[in-house]
Amino acid sequence: MKKTLTAICLCKGVKFKTSGEHRNVSNCHCIQCRKTHGIYGAYSNVKDKDIKFINKKTLRWFKSSNNAKRGFCNKCGASIFFKFKNSDNVSIAAGMFNGKTGLKTMRNIFVGTKSDFYKITDKLPKFKRFSN
Ligand SMILES: [Zn+2]
Repeated sequence: MKKTLTAICLCKGVKFKTSGEHRNVSNCHCIQCRKTHGIYGAYSNVKDKDIKFINKKTLRWFKSSNNAKRGFCNKCGASIFFKFKNSDNVSIAAGMFNGKTGLKTMRNIFVGTKSDFYKITDKLPKFKRFSN
């Protein structure tokens, strides 16, 4: 859905506005999201061109695999972005957005690698790996 949102990390070192089409939220239970977020990652997604940075002084990127990198704040530790190499889109941890987002959680992915300390209790579609 088309909207304009503002996202900001805890220390305000990373602040940006998003516009245009926002994908609804995908909960990713892969090992890397677990290690990054402490639990699953809940990501929306927008086109690169629809992000306007207001501040990115503390934004750093970690190459988390051969085909993806993750953006985080090197001051407050916020886990903010996931980006596939060669993609024109970027995933944004949905909790970064201020105020009401109007987004909905739409699915669970990589459910085969979730940790056992929580249950997926929603009735949303579940995928073993990716889904588009
Ligand atoms: Zn920060």
